[in-house]
Formats: sequence, C-alpha cells, structure tokens
Amino acid sequence: MNDIVSQLREIVDENGLLTGQNVSERMIHMWYPKPITALCIVRPTTCEQVSQILKLCNDNNQTVVPHGGLTGLVQGCNSEPTDVVLSLERMNQIEEVDPIGRTMTVQAGVPLQLIQETAELSDLMFPLDLGARGSCQIGGNVSTNAGGNRVIRFGMARENVLGIEAVLADGTVMSSLNVMIKNNSGYDLKQLFIGTEGTLGVITRIVLRLREIPQIQPTAFAAFDNFQQVTKFLRFVDQRLGGELSAFEVMWHDYYEVVTTAPADNIRPVPADYPLYVLIESMGAGANHSENKFNDILGEALEKGLVADAAVAQSESDRMAMWKIRDSVEHFFRHGHAFLYDVSLAIRYMDDYVSEVKRRLLDKWPDSHCQTLGHIADGNIHFAIAVGDDSSESHKAVNECVYEPLQPIKGAISAEHGIGTEKLDYLNLSRTKEEVQIMRLLKNSLDPNNILNPEKIFVSNR
Ligand SMILES: Cc1cc2nc3c(=O)[nH]c(=O)nc-3n(C[C@H](O)[C@H](O)[C@H](O)COP(=O)(O)OP(=O)(O)OC[C@H]3O[C@@H](n4cnc5c(N)ncnc54)[C@H](O)[C@@H]3O)c2cc1C
Repeated sequence: MNDIVSQLREIVDENGLLTGQNVSERMIHMWYPKPITALCIVRPTTCEQVSQILKLCNDNNQTVVPHGGLTGLVQGCNSEPTDVVLSLERMNQIEEVDPIGRTMTVQAGVPLQLIQETAELSDLMFPLDLGARGSCQIGGNVSTNAGGNRVIRFGMARENVLGIEAVLADGTVMSSLNVMIKNNSGYDLKQLFIGTEGTLGVITRIVLRLREIPQIQPTAFAAFDNFQQVTKFLRFVDQRLGGELSAFEVMWHDYYEVVTTAPADNIRPVPADYPLYVLIESMGAGANHSENKFNDILGEALEKGLVADAAVAQSESDRMAMWKIRDSVEHFFRHGHAFLYDVSLAIRYMDDYVSEVKRRLLDKWPDSHCQTLGHIADGNIHFAIAVGDDSSESHKAVNECVYEPLQPIKGAISAEHGIGTEKLDYLNLSRTKEEVQIMRLLKNSLDPNNILNPEKIFVSNR
C-alpha cells in the first residue's frame, strides 16, 4: 500500500479510511454521477486528526481536497487520482446550543437541515437556507459563503458565522471560536476561511448565530407583466413590511412553465400567462398584525397596478407548495444536459442583460432552452442553459454568451456558488489583477506547498 495511505490509516480509526472500490463507488455530485477518483478518502472525527492528516500531507507535498456534502455547483470538489480526499462527513456533532446567547457550536460536517431543525427545538432559527439543505454541510456552506433564499433579510453565510476553528495546511489549528456579535480585537481571521473554498484551510468547527423563530411566515406568489413592475413592487413591499421581508424569489416564465408542467407535479398558484413571477415571504412576530399587514400590502399592490395577479398561501401546505415551485431546480435538466450559471449584477441592468443573453443563445442555438430565476433583491440571477450537447466547446461558447454582456455593467461571474474549477478561466473578469495577486499572496503564505484544494479558484503560479 502507498506509504502515505498507510500512515493516514494510523491517524484515523478502521472506518476512517476508504480506498479502491470504496472510493470509486462514491459519486462526485448528485447531478453529475461520475465516480470519485482519489488515492483515498480519509474521514477524521476530530480536529486533532485533521491537524495530523494535514501535517503529514504537507510534509510529503501530498495534495488534499476537502469534501463536504458534495452539492457545490462549480466542481470545487473535483480530485485527481493522486489526491487525498478529506471528507468531513464523520465530524457531524452538534456540540452546544446556547439559547441565551443565541448561538450554536457545531462540527463542520453537520448537514444544514439538521442545524435548522435543532435550532427550532429551542424556539430559535438558523436562517441560512437553500435547496440542497438536506445534503450540504455547514462546513461546505461556510467555505462557499453560501447565499440562498433569505439573504435579503439575514445575509449570506458570512453574516451568520461568529467563530471558526480551522486547520492550516501545515497542521496548525486556528481556534477562533468567538461567540460575540462584536469583536474588533485585531484582524477577524475567520474571514480567511469563509468563501475561500477550502484553499486556505480546512474548517472543523463553527459557532453559528441564531435568530428568534418567526411566529408567522406569510407567503404569496405574484405574477407581473414586466420587469419594471417587479422592481417597483420590490421597493414597495420592502418599505411596507418595514424589515420583515425575508424572501423575494423571481422566476422568469421559462422556468415557471417547466416546473409547473408534467412530469413536474407542482400546481400553479397563478396562471402561466405572465413573463415574470415572484415568491414573496415575510417573517414576523405579532400574528394578527403581520398577517393582516401582508394581505393588505398585496391588496394595495394589486390596486396600484404593481402586481398583475397574486395568490396568498392560506395554509402551511400552500406555503410549502409555493416554495416547492421555487426549489424544483431538478427540472433544469428537462431538456438534457444544462450548463448552470450564477451571476450577479445591479438590478437596474437585469432586464436588458437577461434579454441580451437569451438573444445571443438563440442566435447561436435556435433550439436552445434557457431557464431563468434568481434572488434578484440580492442582484443574483441563475441560468440553466441547454443547447443540445455538453461538449467543452459548447460550454465555452455558452460562457461567452453569459459572461461577455456582464463586462460593461461590471457584473460578477459568481454571486454565491464560488469559482471552483468551473470558472477558473474567468476570475479575471470579476476581479482586478491586483485583487488576484493579493489572493495568491494569501494562498502562498498560508499554503506554501499548495497542497490544499489545488487548482481551484485560480491556477497556481508556482
Ligand atoms: C439543489 C441545489 C440548490 C442549491 N441552492 C443554492 C443556493 O440557493 N445558494 C447557494 O449559495 N448555493 C446553492 N447550491 C450550491 C451548494 O449547495 C452550496 O455551494 C453549498 O454551500 C455547498 O455545500 P457542500 O457541503 O455540499 O460543499 P461541497 O460541495 O462538498 O464543497 C464545496 C467547496 O467547499 C470546500 N469545502 C467543503 N467543506 C469544507 C470544509 N469543512 N473546510 C474547507 N473547505 C471545505 C470544498 O473543497 C469545495 O471547494 C445549491 C445546490 C443544489 C444541488
């Protein structure tokens, strides 16, 4: 057996190391079922084991790819046959819930949904939420600075993390398990590991900020005649709800129609006759006050012509059905392989930008399909684009259709998914030369042997 593999086996217990078929029978992603290729998968249970693993690998110039729940959408977990995969799946303990300080301390491998459910047992809420909640891990969410459905109210993963314990490439443990909202004692080092996709360290423990659970969550589905109406309605509803708006999820007709047509089993809350749809959710405390307020606001919006049509959820099952429409992203693949995008740009440019992307696609592939939706209040649009094949030539050509029109309006190639390997060639479209140089400086300082998730975010310059 490879020497490094046998040394890794000594660090973890007998279930802690997978090789051969036990590696290749695992898939790299639920949507891209290709077998994992790696020297081995090491599965520690403690931070001390992670530290020993990384020290050993660093001393031997052995590359390491961290794995969370494998739901990332930019191929940030891709590995070579010579890489060691470090999976956090057995570091899945919720260590403490502090209902007074409203914090939860967890190991990095805990699934997001379990964190949400555990917070609820203390009448609290962990507001980060995304469609992959059942499979993704909090360590992966933090490493990608995940966004999701409630960013407009509670911010991205970064805003919901108070402290982090991470292990550097050489095995040094950086314990910064702060539990306070305020702590300006020098550099805020946890930020080094948030959104850096496992390139600067392996996150092992996290202190999360919890919020009060909402007493009510009124939810509605609205239809619009044009994008201008949507932006006017966003400002109107945000003003009227006075800070209670918690989701504003926009779906273009191309997405809404697919996810409400068989074989999808979603029921349309409003007819599919409109170009745009929005799922609106508010999280409030005083039950009658907020529920009435929500209904009144929507009624007023209809009267003012800010909304073309609307349906308010009358029950929890209505609410869940509306969210299911927004979360039915598995139908991205209705027309065969789809290339997925996650761009951000100023809201004022969105309408023209989306039209321009679709025009370019149809010019090149008249039979292409483009499904569009987004967390537009956060400036974030997702496209799922099917052009009839999944070749790298087509991928590159579709990238051009999506990224080129972003340049003049200073948009970003990634709003919330990160760069991984998928967007490696395009980082310079969203970041200046100096910004990338500083990223490299940090990488070279913290991981001089370039062992941690190599060739992710940017190509190494060693
Ligand atoms: C149906 C669906 C819906 C989604 N919706 C959203 C959404 O709304 N918003 C959004 O932001 N994303 C969304 N995503 C993308 C994905 O779920 C997120 O990127 C998520 O945060 C990834 O978590 P994970 O545990 O699966 O990480 P993985 O995919 O396992 O890893 C992601 C990256 O983080 C690194 N990493 C993982 N764990 C650690 C660790 N402990 N320490 C250091 N590095 C680590 C990996 O090396 C990799 O680079 C969605 C994905 C799917 C499939």
